[in-house]
Amino acid sequence: MSVNLPIYFDNHATTPVDPRVLDAMLPYFGAKFGNAASRNHSFGWAGEEAVENARGQVASLIGATPKEIIFTSGATESDNLMIKGVAEMYREKGNHIITQAIEHKAVLDTCKRLEKYGYEVTYLPVQKDGRVNPEDVRKAITPKTILITIMYANNEIGVINPIQEIGKIAKEHGIIFAVDGVQAVGKIPVDVQKDNIDLLAISGHKIYGPKGVGALYVRRRNPRVQLSAIIDGGGHERGMRSGTLNVPGIVGLGKACEVAQQEMAAESAKMLALRERLRKGLEAKLDEVFINGSMEHRLPNNLNMSFAYVEGESLLMGINDIAVSSGSACTSATLEPSYVLKALGVGEDLAHTSIRFGLGRFNTEEEVDYVIDKMVQVVSKLRELSPLYEMAKEGIDISKVKWQTA
Ligand SMILES: *Cc1c(COP(=O)(O)O)cnc(C)c1O
Repeated sequence: MSVNLPIYFDNHATTPVDPRVLDAMLPYFGAKFGNAASRNHSFGWAGEEAVENARGQVASLIGATPKEIIFTSGATESDNLMIKGVAEMYREKGNHIITQAIEHKAVLDTCKRLEKYGYEVTYLPVQKDGRVNPEDVRKAITPKTILITIMYANNEIGVINPIQEIGKIAKEHGIIFAVDGVQAVGKIPVDVQKDNIDLLAISGHKIYGPKGVGALYVRRRNPRVQLSAIIDGGGHERGMRSGTLNVPGIVGLGKACEVAQQEMAAESAKMLALRERLRKGLEAKLDEVFINGSMEHRLPNNLNMSFAYVEGESLLMGINDIAVSSGSACTSATLEPSYVLKALGVGEDLAHTSIRFGLGRFNTEEEVDYVIDKMVQVVSKLRELSPLYEMAKEGIDISKVKWQTA
């Protein structure tokens, strides 16, 4: 069987909308256009009913009740709302927040903003495998701590944190626990009760739903979490998020959650099989490759691998019919290695040659085989041009070589 090019292996960045999701959304762009807040006529009622149905679908996926779901414009907003909302609401109680080094920028930059307003933030390091040590969280707690925010699974390396244990520590100390669940929800079982989560950020477009819609779970009992709004207006979403609801988007997010719930077990087995086929294929045919982050505690659809002795940009150019992400972030002037890999202690050279493979619902074995062949071909060719690789093969310890400088 042949494959269609280009191949999409970047499902941590975004996912295609599932056709079932699109079908569910379409009527709400047409005849069912009502404003869900219009209480006086059937157009409004149809919108409201659709939104409440979606609220149930989202809640069901994470073990919550529908009233605990707030719709937002995406997980960036959900992350902002959960952190800023707690910071403002509980300011009298304290000003200390605990997070960790390899959160998504939506969390890190929100915390940095709060530092400007007098909050103190502890950015915990991660272990070599990319996970947070729960004991580090415990030790960082002070009488002023009002919030602990740790992501469920990392978007670059797919590593899954010990969320249940961290949640337990937060609970023991009466501190609110907020989780960026974007990469985990819909992919692995997430249960806000079992996991002791008080706030959970979700994004539509990472789970085969539309872009520009997300949700925030806000615990209502044991404890009842209160949030200050960051958008003021008509008092929608129980006052926590004003603004006319994006009905088609919300319907899509709800449907995406329903499909994920029904298919998660089978899908995650399929992802794992594809991922292992990819990993084993690459490891069998290439030496000097290194996996970044824990293999044991990892999303089934993620592989993050460094290919030593190649030049990162040439590698990406060589595989331009495959959509992946690399461990280099192109800023205006320089090529910065990923802050995530840096925090794991991965050296600059290896960070620059790292590739994130993000598998998804619509990928196939044939695509995996194509990617293996292509990677092997391009990496081998680049290494033929590398004197360093040649020296390494001859058993010369490159770190001990005294280089002549001109
Ligand atoms: C994509 C992503 C976000 C941002 O979600 P948007 O809906 O695109 O704003 C936040 N956190 C993580 C871990 C992500 O992967």
